[in-house]
Amino acid sequence: MTTIAFIGLGNMGGPMAGNLVKAGHEVRAFDLVQASKDAAAELGVGIAGSGKEAVADADIIVTMLPAGKHVLSVWADILPAVKKGALLIDSSTIDVESARKAHALAGQHGCLSLDAPVSGGTGGAKGGTLTFMVGGSDEAFALGEPVLKAMGRRIVHCGAAGNGQAAKICNNMILGISMIGVSEAFVLAEKLGLSHQALFDVASTSSGQCWSLTTYCPVPGPVPTSPANNEYKPGFASALMLKDLKLSQEAAQTAGASTPLGAAATQLYGLHNAWGEGGADFSAIVHLLRGRDAS
Ligand code: NAD
Repeated sequence: MTTIAFIGLGNMGGPMAGNLVKAGHEVRAFDLVQASKDAAAELGVGIAGSGKEAVADADIIVTMLPAGKHVLSVWADILPAVKKGALLIDSSTIDVESARKAHALAGQHGCLSLDAPVSGGTGGAKGGTLTFMVGGSDEAFALGEPVLKAMGRRIVHCGAAGNGQAAKICNNMILGISMIGVSEAFVLAEKLGLSHQALFDVASTSSGQCWSLTTYCPVPGPVPTSPANNEYKPGFASALMLKDLKLSQEAAQTAGASTPLGAAATQLYGLHNAWGEGGADFSAIVHLLRGRDAS
C-alpha cells in the first residue's frame, strides 16, 4: 500500500482516484468543487481540506487538472508541503513547456516527477483501462509505473521530461487530421453517388484504412459502435480535440516545426466549435464539411 494524494477530482480524476482505492492504496484527495469531492468520497477516497493537507506524508501525488496554468500553480502551492523524495505525477493534458517547468519545480524541491497524460477518455478512467504516455527519468518511471497500472492498461515510457505530453499531442494531431480526411472522403462520395457502405468496404481494406475510419467512422452505418450511430454523443468531444490541436500548434511554434495540416485542422475544429458542436463527438466535423446537419 502506498499513500497517494490526488488533486483534481473531475470527470477523469474522480474515477481514477477511485481505482487507486480499489487497488488497495490510501488516497487523500482535494478539489475546489464540493460535488466532485462528494462523488469521490463515495468511491472510498479520503477528502482533505486543502491541497497542502492532501499531500502531507504522501509518497506519490497525482494531479488531474484542466490546463498548464492550473498544474503550475497547484504544484507551486503544494511542493513546500511535499516530503523530499516523493514522486509527483501530472496526468492532465497540458503544453509541453509548462510540463517541463513543472518537472523543474519538483526538482528544486528534491522531488521526482513524471508527466503522464492519458488517452481513453472517461470510459477508460472508470474502467481502469487508460493508456498513459509518460515522460521523466528512469528512476521516476520505475516508482510511478505500479501506481499508473492501477489506473490504466498500457503504460508507455516515452523518454525524458515533457515527452509524455509531446506523444499525446502528436498522436491527437494525427487523429484530428485523419478524421477530417475521412470525413471529406465521405462527403465527396455522397456527391459522387457512392454509398457510405461501399466507400467503407473499399477504404477499410485499402490504403485509406485508419482508426478514424474503422473505429470512429464519422457517418452512421458502417461501424455500429462509432459515435455517429449514437447521435454523435462523445466519445471524445470536439472541444477537447480543439484544445489538443491548439497545444500541438503552440508546441510546433516553439519547436520550429512545420505542421500545415495540423494548423488547418485547428482552424476547422475552431469553426466546428463556433458552429455550436463543441459538445458533440469530434467525428461530427463531418456536419461542418457537408455544410448541413443531415447524416
Ligand atoms: P474536469 O474539468 O472535469 O476536471 C478538472 C478538475 O480540476 C475539476 O473538478 C476542477 O474543480 C479541478 N480543479 C481546477 N483547479 C483546481 C485547483 N486549483 N485545485 C484543486 N482542483 C482544481 O476535466 P477532466 O475531463 O477531468 O480532464 C482533466 C484533464 O484530463 C484535462 O487536462 C483534459 O484535457 C484531460 N483529458 C480529458 C479527457 C476526457 O475525456 N475528459 C480525456 C483525456 C484527457
